[in-house]
Order: sequence, then C-alpha cells, then structure tokens
Amino acid sequence: MKEVQVIFVREIQIHCPYCGKITLGYYEDPRGKMIECEYCENTFIVSKSTSLDFS
Ligand SMILES: [Zn+2]
Repeated sequence: MKEVQVIFVREIQIHCPYCGKITLGYYEDPRGKMIECEYCENTFIVSKSTSLDFS
C-alpha cells in the first residue's frame, strides 16, 4: 500500500485570545510565531505545541 507524506493545508483559522474572533489566511505554519489580530490589533504567540483541530 502506498503512503502519503505531505498534507496540503488550505486554510488555517486561529481564534484570537483577546477578542475571540477568527483570523484567517495563514498559508505557512503559524506555530511558534507572533500573530497580530486583524480585528483588535493585539499580538499573541501561537504555541509551538498547538494541536490541530479537524472538527
Ligand atoms: Zn483580536
């Protein structure tokens, strides 16, 4: 049986921990990076150990 080694991520949604809104549009792995919320302009860090939620 063949095995797939890469999964293509089409969209990443992050809930801002300050205002709770969903920021969109990260096409690189945001883990370990600082993000500035496009709504409230607060910055926060996405934990390197952030889990992926496929629900
Ligand atoms: Zn925010």
